[in-house]
Amino acid sequence: MKKLARTFEIGPIRPPSEAYSLLIRATRNCPWNKCQFCHLYKNSKFELRSIKEILKDIETANIISENIKEFACKIGYTNKVEGAAATLCTQPQYDQCVRNISAWLWAGGESAFLQDSNTLIIKTPKLIQIITSLRNTFPSLNRITTYARSHTSSRKSSSELKELKDSGLDRIHTGLETGYDPLLAYMQKGSTAQQHIIGGRKVKEAGISLCEYVMPGLGGKRMSQEHARETARVLNEIDADYIRLRSLHVHQDMPLWAKLESGDFELQSEDEVVAEIGVFIDNLRVTSYIKSDHSINLLPEIEGKMPDDKEKCLEVINKYLSLPDEERLNFRVGRRIGYYGKLADLSDDYKHSKIDETIKHISPTEPHKIDKMILKLKDSFI
Ligand code: SF4
Repeated sequence: MKKLARTFEIGPIRPPSEAYSLLIRATRNCPWNKCQFCHLYKNSKFELRSIKEILKDIETANIISENIKEFACKIGYTNKVEGAAATLCTQPQYDQCVRNISAWLWAGGESAFLQDSNTLIIKTPKLIQIITSLRNTFPSLNRITTYARSHTSSRKSSSELKELKDSGLDRIHTGLETGYDPLLAYMQKGSTAQQHIIGGRKVKEAGISLCEYVMPGLGGKRMSQEHARETARVLNEIDADYIRLRSLHVHQDMPLWAKLESGDFELQSEDEVVAEIGVFIDNLRVTSYIKSDHSINLLPEIEGKMPDDKEKCLEVINKYLSLPDEERLNFRVGRRIGYYGKLADLSDDYKHSKIDETIKHISPTEPHKIDKMILKLKDSFI
């Protein structure tokens, strides 16, 4: 087991849908690094990693993977690495790389994700070399994905995007956040609605699957309605394969915190954000699959293929909004402490009464204390 100590570099994040992907860090940090709602790379300089370093990491990942398979045989999982990998990926004594590869093997070893925030910034021939090396080293891969800013994808030529697709790049995840230009400018996103549209369309036309992230709540009280409607308008022009919701949560490390403190930006209540998502979905005219799979979101049940499941998604929203005040509060607290995943969980009498007790205990006279507690709990989700 000594050989398992070899490591390769892993960046800080990946999309929720890449939880079981092999993580290969192609660049470090973010070349833009100005978005007001983002704290991830604020004190870190962007760096392109050398091709030599990246190919070495792929080789190391392969060695670790082979070692885990060898270990699986030794402990009796001759034709099945999943059991051994499942054991290893939960063991804190192994480093992040061993746990990542174990989780990846456990899930079948089928997907890889290139980190960090804007891989398309790498020159196309070099990126093709990385993707080709991954494909050759791990024939079990059937999906390679990465993050890209729409500012960058809108400037990449269609033929380069096609070359990337042909070399084995299957999906691009893009943080659209909003389609409302004044809000894009206020949040210093560094992209316009038109760049979102051009970048998204180019990616799709190249045959690469596209996942666009939307940030409910980003407009605050002032721009909520425009945010919802313009984001739907822009997405209607793109018709991405996936639309994923990731609600705004502001904490102290984000530049937006100062605007919040000064009163320039005013947060919506969670219920207002839910209503905003309703306006957004109602205005969508797409065939995308919509998901609400980030732990920060209040209603993970908002999910389905548009347009068929549009009414189903709106029903979830209306059902929540039509609950009595105390039931909505019970759900919000229950969701944040991990008791509830869906609205039907409210009918679990035991959990419901426990949450009611917690609410009474925390806030007999000051209801804002509950909101404070929820904000603190949400801090741990980002
Ligand atoms: S482009 Fe992405 S990673 Fe970079 S600052 Fe904006 S949100 Fe953060």
